[in-house]
Amino acid sequence: MATDAVDPNPRPPVVLLGDTLVSVDEARISPFDRGFLFGDGVYEMVRVFDRIPLSMHAHQDRLAKGLSETGITGFDARRYSSIVERLLEAEDLRDACVYLQITRGCEIPRRHVPSHELTPTIFAYALPSPPLSDLETPDITTAILRPDERWHRCDLKTIGLLPNVMAATEADHAGSTEAILYRDGLISEGSSSNVMASLNGAIITPKFGDFQNILPGAMLDFAIESARAIGIPVECRPLSVDELLQADEVAITSSRRILHSISALDGRSIPGGSVFARVFDRMTASIADAVAGEPTAAAR
Ligand code: PMP
Repeated sequence: MATDAVDPNPRPPVVLLGDTLVSVDEARISPFDRGFLFGDGVYEMVRVFDRIPLSMHAHQDRLAKGLSETGITGFDARRYSSIVERLLEAEDLRDACVYLQITRGCEIPRRHVPSHELTPTIFAYALPSPPLSDLETPDITTAILRPDERWHRCDLKTIGLLPNVMAATEADHAGSTEAILYRDGLISEGSSSNVMASLNGAIITPKFGDFQNILPGAMLDFAIESARAIGIPVECRPLSVDELLQADEVAITSSRRILHSISALDGRSIPGGSVFARVFDRMTASIADAVAGEPTAAAR
């Protein structure tokens, strides 16, 4: 069953604003919030199965790095875990995606250079998502290729996502669910996912590091670890557009989608195979172990 087979327009009954749970209709943020005026904020999204958030430490570490590099103060990234628990409790959810956004705060009048002592705006909500039992095989979808027109600090999960929104909208208009972005002939990542190719039995993936400033994806790390655990070699290195177009298989990973298989790129069919189905099986088995209380890669 499709992992996205839920209400397409769900509405959370309550959201967390600051330290308070309020109904969506009561939630108010100042128009002088720097998130609204400058896109001055960071965010995270974690997927939860049976109350176990996947790769929680990776999300918290990435959030801590984003806060520290942007100089947004007044929020400890380790609070994400308790926010997740609080929202699951309030909404009586076991399987969910929990979004958290921290902006630098509100300041009047608008000025580029922020004052030092701003109180950050904290906003979070949970939406139901399908349970683990629905993840039988990877969803199969198609993608388009588009130039990467984003800034150069894509390793930070910042809220200014207009180029991602534009690329994702183009994909949607083309009947696809993801835009895979490239820069200087090299694949960077999807508009909201990381990208892996399988060539001659090995997985190749551009991973955040010395050579590319892309998002260090929590699910990409989980997929790499899962692949290696079942003996599939993984090379983390630049991946050219030509290589992607010649790949036996292509897949994308993200917390919301876990792992989706790509069957066509810009309308060109990708041959397909069993590499990513095996990786997906290992990932879901690991999530099942985590749900059963075992310390697996998924539960870290
Ligand atoms: N790249 C981009 C641009 C994203 O927005 C996302 C989704 N957050 C990812 C990669 C995947 O990251 P993760 O696996 O941590 O959800």
